[in-house]
Amino acid sequence: MSRIRLLPETVASQVAAGEVVERPASVVKELVENSIDAGARKIDILIRRGGISFVRVIDDGSGMDRDDALLSLERHATSKIRSASDLEAIATLGFRGEALPSIASVSRFRLATREAGAIAGTEIIINGGKIDIVREGGEAPGTQVEVRSLFYNLPARRKFLRSENTESRKIEHQIHLQAIGHPQIAFTFVRDDRLVFQLPAAANLNDRIRDLYGSEMLDRLLPVNGEAFDKACPERSQRIDIGGLIGRAGVSRQTRDQQLTFVNGRAIESPVLSAALREGYHTALMKGQYSVTFLFLNIDPTAVDVNVHPAKREVRFRDPNGVREAVVRSIRQTLESGRETWREKFSAPTSASPEAAGQPVADLTLRPPAIFPEVAHRELSGLGAAVGDRGYSAVGLVPPSVVAPNRDDVVAGVDDPGRAQRPISSTAANSQQFQIIGVLNKLYVLMENADGLVLVDQHAAHERILFEELRGRMEEQGVPTQRLLIPQTFDLPPRDADWIERNMSILQKMGIGIEGFGPNTFKIDSLPAFLNTSDPVHFMQRVIDDLKSSSASSSPMRLGEEMIAKTVCRHAVKANDPLRYLEIEKLIQDLLACDLPYCCPHGRPTMIQISHAELEKKFGRKV
Ligand code: ADP
Ligand code: MG
Repeated sequence: MSRIRLLPETVASQVAAGEVVERPASVVKELVENSIDAGARKIDILIRRGGISFVRVIDDGSGMDRDDALLSLERHATSKIRSASDLEAIATLGFRGEALPSIASVSRFRLATREAGAIAGTEIIINGGKIDIVREGGEAPGTQVEVRSLFYNLPARRKFLRSENTESRKIEHQIHLQAIGHPQIAFTFVRDDRLVFQLPAAANLNDRIRDLYGSEMLDRLLPVNGEAFDKACPERSQRIDIGGLIGRAGVSRQTRDQQLTFVNGRAIESPVLSAALREGYHTALMKGQYSVTFLFLNIDPTAVDVNVHPAKREVRFRDPNGVREAVVRSIRQTLESGRETWREKFSAPTSASPEAAGQPVADLTLRPPAIFPEVAHRELSGLGAAVGDRGYSAVGLVPPSVVAPNRDDVVAGVDDPGRAQRPISSTAANSQQFQIIGVLNKLYVLMENADGLVLVDQHAAHERILFEELRGRMEEQGVPTQRLLIPQTFDLPPRDADWIERNMSILQKMGIGIEGFGPNTFKIDSLPAFLNTSDPVHFMQRVIDDLKSSSASSSPMRLGEEMIAKTVCRHAVKANDPLRYLEIEKLIQDLLACDLPYCCPHGRPTMIQISHAELEKKFGRKV
């Protein structure tokens, strides 16, 4: 007797449902996608008890006639594709014709739908996959689907559901994705009879983000510069449009929850895109933090396969490297574009500046002697002393105070009689206007700009300046090297040796003179001049340990950046190094000239702005 049997239709669809309908959030996802595909302008979602007891999605889309409504509940019945070749260029969110029958097979299901202009609509009630009622209905044009008692007939699956709260949150996240992906559609979301949000149809992504997260969020985002990419890659036949909004450098989250990526309007999770975001934000975010991104890729539909994941959550790119490069490039250009608005904050006149106040410079109430008391007695401290070592002079990062022929001229000190006449505000060179007030705790430079108070971490600022200087030199292959008196050879375990082999060229660009000297043996005969190490072998060992596990290893330039970031820190002005006034001024100006001035190469902020409004609020002048 044969032991193999054909599964009854309802059982078969329950098996398939397991893939499409994992949890209430997948029900919401599939229903909302259907509404979007049906051209809805407005979608209302209501859930109860985490969506387990009740989900309802109402849309004002095309609706269906009676025949289509019945057909939509058959497996593999879809209006969206006709042949296998259509799968190669999918322009709709759905295409498999599986969602409705799958959901209906694992719930108590009701579909009510009506085409605009039709005299009557159709109502269908299905329990556990079996049609119970089909009748005329009188709802408004559009479609509503109700799903009750999800998995009531699949206790095994029900057991895998999390708490109602967790399931509700997953649903809400799902609706956020759809709402951000389709700003022109109005959404309402009601959870357990409480209105969670009501989003009007928005003209653009900015308005949608403001409605959903508030205007503070919007202030922290930059519009993605995708056009630049097209110019940069005219040779690439596969055109990728990149748009959306992304967090400024330093704007981050502990989780990936607000790292949203859309490909042709579909929210997807993609290792290719996550890696590209990590790389694009390299040195702009702290370790372990995730960027905030609402990134939209539009790409020729034939260049991306969406038919690879049961829940259509992942895609496969035909040219993943091309996509990655394009995203990295546009992220970096976007982050750097943010510095212009930042600089503007330092070029408008401050209220306390002599020009603005109409006062002569000498009337300034600032009293430098009280601010930089120690400096006069320690001329060679701080940056000045650091420059004395071969480090800074070797890379040409020499503050003016050091090269100035007459040091007395630039040292602000108690016993400098000419000093009081010198303006403290910096109106110099590039019309930057900020007012240095003093230094707190020998670490934080206090300044005033047009917006209010600015605190600069002098150590972090110096790290950023040195980092960009060295990176520039690395790109031009111009890192000055220092020959070792005696070249050294060293052995490595095979995996480390392999890592060196693979990254040899970038190490050489970095100014490390290294070459193979046997199967797992290497010879090193020079090091970057900015390094201050007496033990090159130990240094190499540390470089390998630091970098081989690094995520940056996917790209040689990022690897070089990482290496610089790690060495720069040891050379930047230490906290507690008192700086002379002009050194501070130069530091700030150099910082403002950086590509990413607002964070150090490890992603920590270099400056904190406290606005007039915030101060007024704190002092109770304004509520
Ligand atoms: P798919 O979306 O993959 O085509 P579904 O099972 O989700 O498969 O839906 C089957 C068909 O039912 C769709 O192709 C569409 O024609 C129709 N349909 C489903 N939901 C709606 C809706 N909200 N409005 C109009 N038509 C719908
Ligand atoms: Mg569908």
